[in-house]
Amino acid sequence: MSECIFCKIVAKEIPGKIAYEDERILAFYDLEPQAPVHVLIVPKKHIASLDEAGTEDSELLGHLLGKAKEIAATLGLDNGYRLVINTGEDGQQTVKHLHVHLLGGRKMTWPPG
Ligand code: AMP
Ligand code: ZN
Repeated sequence: MSECIFCKIVAKEIPGKIAYEDERILAFYDLEPQAPVHVLIVPKKHIASLDEAGTEDSELLGHLLGKAKEIAATLGLDNGYRLVINTGEDGQQTVKHLHVHLLGGRKMTWPPG
């Protein structure tokens, strides 16, 4: 059995508050929201990070990004939103399963810390 927490959410072995699901991706609410809307969008396939994605994953990544804007629209983020993919140690990636943070509902700051 996978020890990956996001694989467990995908497999419904641990609960997640699901915002969107199809055969290739799952979107669920972050446990520690950093904005009024904070959803994580993950491929159902375990890919440890963006750096681990291969050319065979290009279509999946495109699907994920295309769905991100649809999910943002569904969640009412008409005034904009931010997508973040933390990658590797300097990127402060803590969960080693590729995920896109969808953040919205407030004005974001720049640069990020
Ligand atoms: P990152 O730092 O980019 O790896 O982001 C990991 C994110 O996963 C953090 O924002 C955590 O709050 C979130 N997180 C960790 N465990 C869970 C969980 N079981 N359900 C929902 N979000 C989680
Ligand atoms: Zn995983």
